[in-house]
Amino acid sequence: MYRILLWAWLLWLASFSLAWAAPDRIPVRVGVADNSPIVTAAPGAPPEGIAIDVIRWVAEREGWQVTYVPDTFDNLLVRLDKGDIDLLTGIAYSDERAQRFRFSRQSLIGNWGMVFRHAAAPIDSLPDLKGKRVALMRGSTHSQALIELATQFDAPFVPVYVDTYSQVLQAIAERRADAGAVNRVFAALHAQEPDLAVTGIVFNPVFVHYAAPKHANPALLDALDRHLAALKADTGSAYYDSLRRWLEAAPDSRYPNWLPWAAAAGALLLVLSLAIAGFLRHQVQRQTGELQRRTDQLQSEIEQREQAQQHLNQLAYFDSLTGLPNREGFGIVLSQALATMQGSHERLALLFIDVDRLKTINDGLGHGAGDLLLQQIAMRLQSVLRAHDHLSRFGGDEFVVIVSEIGASSDAELVATRLLHSLAAPVDIGSTQIYTSASIGIALYPDDATSVDSLLKHADTAMYQAKEMGGNRFLFYHAQQTERVVERLTLDTRLRQALERDELVLHYQPIVELGSRKIVGTEALLRWNDPDRGMVMPGAFITAAEDTGLIVPLGEWVLDAGCTQMHEWQKQGKANGMTLAVNVSTRQFEGRRLVKSVEQALSRSGLAPECLELEITENVMLIMNDEVRDSLDILRGMGVRLSLDDFGTGYSSLSYLKELPFHSLKIDQSFVSKIPGQRGDSQIITTILALAKGFELEVIAEGIETPEQYDFLRDHGCEFGQGYLMSRPLPADTLAAILGQPLLAGNA
Ligand code: C2E
Ligand code: MG
Ligand code: MG
Repeated sequence: MYRILLWAWLLWLASFSLAWAAPDRIPVRVGVADNSPIVTAAPGAPPEGIAIDVIRWVAEREGWQVTYVPDTFDNLLVRLDKGDIDLLTGIAYSDERAQRFRFSRQSLIGNWGMVFRHAAAPIDSLPDLKGKRVALMRGSTHSQALIELATQFDAPFVPVYVDTYSQVLQAIAERRADAGAVNRVFAALHAQEPDLAVTGIVFNPVFVHYAAPKHANPALLDALDRHLAALKADTGSAYYDSLRRWLEAAPDSRYPNWLPWAAAAGALLLVLSLAIAGFLRHQVQRQTGELQRRTDQLQSEIEQREQAQQHLNQLAYFDSLTGLPNREGFGIVLSQALATMQGSHERLALLFIDVDRLKTINDGLGHGAGDLLLQQIAMRLQSVLRAHDHLSRFGGDEFVVIVSEIGASSDAELVATRLLHSLAAPVDIGSTQIYTSASIGIALYPDDATSVDSLLKHADTAMYQAKEMGGNRFLFYHAQQTERVVERLTLDTRLRQALERDELVLHYQPIVELGSRKIVGTEALLRWNDPDRGMVMPGAFITAAEDTGLIVPLGEWVLDAGCTQMHEWQKQGKANGMTLAVNVSTRQFEGRRLVKSVEQALSRSGLAPECLELEITENVMLIMNDEVRDSLDILRGMGVRLSLDDFGTGYSSLSYLKELPFHSLKIDQSFVSKIPGQRGDSQIITTILALAKGFELEVIAEGIETPEQYDFLRDHGCEFGQGYLMSRPLPADTLAAILGQPLLAGNA
């Protein structure tokens, strides 16, 4: 006995402490207005309905502490504006409301307006409403829509405003109104009320959503969307249970109590009707006509419902910009594919595609151009896929392809190559030509993972790695890449420390006059001497530093250190007449900071402005605003040289090239690596050389690795070059040793 008591006491204690240990629930205030069966909010009773069932489902899983705020719909809209409630249930989507509130992406249900009339009122079609009293619910989109529709049909009526749909029917039953507008979901439950009849007026198809205040944290709606999408995707889910419960239930009590009497009268009528056959025939004809009309109405209702459902699916599973399946649509297809492949020996590849530099295009040319570009990219990608490959867009610049029925992994490689090739030609956006490329990560089923989530994660990881390697390439997933993702997360912190702890160093790569083989300048290239990992190349951290803005102090350090070193060499008589090229990121222009940084670096080091050359990538043209243009003019005015780096890989507008104060352009190594090669490839270089001559720009060829490339460039009038053939980037003291000597081809 004592033991039982002791156990009971311990259990009580445990449950008590568990209750205390439970995490705080998130308070969520939900506005409810009576709009049965989406929401039934009778005074004194907890709200019910389809929208409430879904909220409960989500609340349980998300740890929400829901408080319901009942009010009229009109008042709730005001409360939502003020942020007095966090969510409003059962609100129809309209463009005007979308300006005021944030809507769930998923709709709860498709709905439209219907008109009921009093059984004795001769109203069947829209023109019959003219001059009649029509009960309308305040604040409902259907109310406004019916007023507008009736005005268009020259049938203005007298609105009788009430607060709920039940009151609409009540007003008709009590003959305070001849007719009234309700939504079809409500209508489905009340079609049998005595004294009421349904008219053929059907209007204003809308979608019922949840809404939150415009500037609210999107987390609530995101959670709702996520759960609603999953619920809708499964016909056995609680969502469909709720629909069946609220839409299909037709309780007996709804049948009017005169029904048995009517049945008896009907039987009597039947006997009588046998005697008056002619009258009956007439009646049958009339009934048949009526039946036909009702059937037609039902048919059109079914069609509308199907259309609404289709539209709903379109919204839920497809991306509106490209028309491709979205993340949800993709999830369903991949889950099905994996389920059917289980136990078989089939393989599948997932290709995660990320468009390179889309952000720069959006920032520079505007989101309209970014959208057009994405549409073109979607078409190009689709055009090189087989019919049973599945392309979807995850939003932003991310696309995913499911390549099924692959044999060897080289099949996936082939698809990835075709996808990259499809983006090689420039895309015309209005009068502008934009060059795009993409980074692709590939994960294989079942080799790398067997679940949707892991496959996606691995393909994404491989994609990041491809991007870090400079983009425009594909990469298969390897387990070590996962470690790198974790690394990237801590990269920002570690880079900041690197700057403070003096772990950054500059290497210098000679720039050579091709004719004389003399060193005429040197490019400062940043390295990070990480105590754990050794020398880290800029490709591994510059993009991350640009994303976080750390590139600004980093760039200032490079300017200071580079100018100081160059001036030092000059003082030692080793670098007379030589220029120092420093790479600057477009982010350094923000707030005209670059001009100040350059002024400071020059004055601190004592280096003459003519000895400094700033290398700016072509993408600067994409953000060519007054700030950038003025900065370039001021810098040139100071005597600093400007050169356009990686020419040919990004976006170049020839008109800008003419207008902007650049001294030189650097042909990207991707072009140099192809020469002498095929005729088309060499022609690109000769065209760039001719173009540069036309604009009176000097040309520096990057990445010269072979004597053939060197000779070709020199023979075609390229004055300067840089590359492993002459010298790799070197630490300062190693370079100092060779300064002043001509660099012979082949001594790299
Ligand atoms: P970049 O400005 O185009 O620099 C040239 C890159 O090509 C350097 O790579 C250089 O080592 C490499 N290179 C030179 N000759 C050859 C060759 O013959 N063959 C091959 N395959 N490569 C060659 P690095 O040092 O890894 O720099 C990569 C990029 O990182 C640079 O491209 C530049 O965009 C960026 N970067 C480097 N330092 C800085 C910096 O201080 N600030 C900023 N914002 N970016 C930097
Ligand atoms: Mg450069
Ligand atoms: Mg370059």
